[in-house]
Amino acid sequence: MGAAMSLATALAWGTSTQWKYVWVGPGVSIVLGYGGLTAYGDGYYHQQDKSTPRISRLHGGFLGLTWPSICGEMWILDGPKAADWQVWMPLWVLLIVITAPTVLAFWRGKRIPTGHCQHCGYDLTANTTGICPECGERI
Ligand SMILES: [Zn+2]
Repeated sequence: MGAAMSLATALAWGTSTQWKYVWVGPGVSIVLGYGGLTAYGDGYYHQQDKSTPRISRLHGGFLGLTWPSICGEMWILDGPKAADWQVWMPLWVLLIVITAPTVLAFWRGKRIPTGHCQHCGYDLTANTTGICPECGERI
């Protein structure tokens, strides 16, 4: 489950330089592309996104290797208001957020439980010698 989501995010990240997906909702439009997710508040960008196809190909692009950011009102130079606000979430951040718990769970699952030899994993229940009978490691 976690691995599948990680893979899907990695795929979206890797291919989002080639296309963008635009979703326009009431008062907000969300763009998946340029290596990340961008949410725009109402404004020129929002109106413009309505006329663009839902999926459009981009020429070139980048992987969005920047930090997440939140912007307030944005204005086009000598033009209309671009958007009320903008939230930028690069996909590499989402990838880490989704992948980290999966990796952690995997690592925890592989860890030798207490009461077992930390060297070889042998069950040391009722062992009083202080030495693992399996591998000879001091406990
Ligand atoms: Zn041992």
